[in-house]
Amino acid sequence: MTQGTEIDRSAVDELQATFRGDIVRPDDAGYDDHRKVWNGSIDRRPAIIARCTGVADVRAAIKLARSQGLLTAVRGGGHSFPGLSVCDDGMLIDLGLMKDIRVDPEARTVRVQAGVLLGELDRETQEFGLAVPSGIVTHTGVAGLTLGGGIGWVMRKYGLSIDQLLSADVITADGELVRASERENSDLFWGLRGGGGNFGIVTDFEFRLNPVGPYAVAGPVFWKMEDARDLLKFYRDWTSDCPDELMTIAVQRRAPALPFVPPDLVGKHVIGVTACYAGPVEDGERVLRPLKEFGSPVLDFCQPKPYLEHQKMFDPSFPHGWHYYFRACDVAGLSDEVIDVVAEYGMRIVSPVTSIALWQMGGAVGRIDDDATAFNGRKAGFTFNINGNSTTAEGFDAEREWARDYWAALAPHHTGVYVNFLMEEGQERVRQAYGAAKYERLKALKRQYDPTNFFRLNQNIRPD
Ligand SMILES: Cc1cc2nc3c(=O)[nH]c(=O)nc-3n(C[C@H](O)[C@H](O)[C@H](O)COP(=O)(O)OP(=O)(O)OC[C@H]3O[C@@H](n4cnc5c(N)ncnc54)[C@H](O)[C@@H]3O)c2cc1C
Repeated sequence: MTQGTEIDRSAVDELQATFRGDIVRPDDAGYDDHRKVWNGSIDRRPAIIARCTGVADVRAAIKLARSQGLLTAVRGGGHSFPGLSVCDDGMLIDLGLMKDIRVDPEARTVRVQAGVLLGELDRETQEFGLAVPSGIVTHTGVAGLTLGGGIGWVMRKYGLSIDQLLSADVITADGELVRASERENSDLFWGLRGGGGNFGIVTDFEFRLNPVGPYAVAGPVFWKMEDARDLLKFYRDWTSDCPDELMTIAVQRRAPALPFVPPDLVGKHVIGVTACYAGPVEDGERVLRPLKEFGSPVLDFCQPKPYLEHQKMFDPSFPHGWHYYFRACDVAGLSDEVIDVVAEYGMRIVSPVTSIALWQMGGAVGRIDDDATAFNGRKAGFTFNINGNSTTAEGFDAEREWARDYWAALAPHHTGVYVNFLMEEGQERVRQAYGAAKYERLKALKRQYDPTNFFRLNQNIRPD
């Protein structure tokens, strides 16, 4: 692959002649906006950005990139933690203009193009009281999230995003359009459900829809961090036997300076449990009562609210442009030793925008056959997401170190890692994310669909 910015002028002219979207080069207006990704610590300058409007544009962009030997990045929502959806010097295939969403309320299905964000999808499906299980921040892309698995508030009831995926249209490295489903190219369909962008560019997703909301009992309850050990022991017991409708995420951070936070609490270390009960409101109130009554909460915002509103709850904590560093791992359960690590490292949080999210897994996710999809980790008890963040470059190194140290302290308890929560951590970590057997199966698929590793800016499964 060439790393320089020299692209044959006539090849670009030829692309531009029929391209329906925009071609953006470094000297063009808007270049800096279009090369930006969500993580502000990533600053890369592609030689050409192809802002596609559909399948024909995607095929044309791939053709140009291949003919010019360009390193190629593919962007859906641009939320890759390590910034894999942008590159220096090469081609950026940006799918952000592909926004079509078509709900069929009768059939309970939805067709979604690759540039759609989670909030846009929820907006359309909730109109009919339906939803695709997806993630917890509305500006994340449906495409990248789904291709890695997709964990979120209703997964314990309806499974991962991939568990409701019915089909996908894929453009392979040689420009072919391939439909993948249980009936067509089922091997590829298996690999797409967890294998990321390794096999081609998905232009359209078709999902099954399920009833959700429109109201859910949802939101956070917070305690002082000093209560972390007692709270987590209670939480461990309480969640060991809870209905699939309930999904929770434990959060550690310093209380933010927001209007609803009492001034004397701002900046203090707090631990919270954020819940979403995806079932009848009165059942949710009953199930959540023991949590709300535990110890002495310092804040309680857990109440009936529109599901759409709850989906946006974490948006302000993860805006575009801050500097983000993440480490992640699965653990089987919250042993006393794990709880000790959580209590200790929670107190060491310095940045007001650093946090951890400890996801409760299980329910429907764990009941689906592990071999059914490439996603690995259905048996995980909890997933840690350790976020060392700063609003600018200042202080970022220290946050990164804190996240690494927290993660390292949990190392004796790691059971795996969710591929969408990896940074650029090397080939061995990608293999760990899939496990040896799935990794070998994915490698064979990669050899079939992308033998030259054209799609390499992802958690890469190498064909060789
Ligand atoms: C703020 C935030 C919140 C998050 N919350 C959750 C959550 O609740 N649940 C969860 O499961 N994950 C979550 N994640 C992780 C998220 O799933 C991944 O970061 C995911 O890759 C984001 O998808 P995207 O389309 O926005 O990313 P992008 O950066 O556009 O893409 C990510 C990867 O997917 C590839 N890709 C993107 N689109 C396509 C396509 N159409 N065809 C082929 N390959 C493609 C890219 O090349 C890249 O390698 C979150 C991430 C962030 C930053």
